Amino acid sequence: NNFDAYDLNGGLESTLLMARNEIKYNAEVVKELGNLPLIQAVGGSVNQVLLNILVNAAQAIKAKQQSGMGRIRVKTYHDTAYVYCEIEDSGAGIPADHLNKIFNPFFTTKPVGQGTGLGLSISYDIIVNKHHGDITVQSVLGEGTTFTVKLPIAQ
Ligand code: ADP
Ligand code: MG
Repeated sequence: NNFDAYDLNGGLESTLLMARNEIKYNAEVVKELGNLPLIQAVGGSVNQVLLNILVNAAQAIKAKQQSGMGRIRVKTYHDTAYVYCEIEDSGAGIPADHLNKIFNPFFTTKPVGQGTGLGLSISYDIIVNKHHGDITVQSVLGEGTTFTVKLPIAQ
């Protein structure tokens, strides 16, 4: 429903603006945006996914309480079948025994009232079930985390 031409780079730019208050005192943003083909997607839903990943990244950097600014790197690229977006943060990282739980509904490590634990489960549904893409995570505890979203170019 509501699939339309969608520019992933544009979606990233507008969600970075939406997240700027979460990010600005904690992290510098480095953008490496490649030239991308338009895809068919529900733009509002994909933007909701990007926003959740960006806010999680900003919160993970805050939770690490490092001196100085953290870093969020956003990178886009494509191959013949998919467009890709990597969002890498220099935050606290995810313990190995949490990695298979973070996409479960209501899994959160945030204080009561700060996280519903729904963001990544909704994101998984949007990317994998609705768009036939994938969302994956790599993390090193104490070093940072990278989420990769891939979306098919042709629906
Ligand atoms: P919420 O943000 O409400 O906690 P999410 O589904 O967005 O729910 O995330 C679930 C959990 O995954 C978070 O509580 C946190 O433990 C972990 N997580 C997600 N993204 C990151 C990240 N970038 N760095 C560290 N932990 C993360
Ligand atoms: Mg979240």
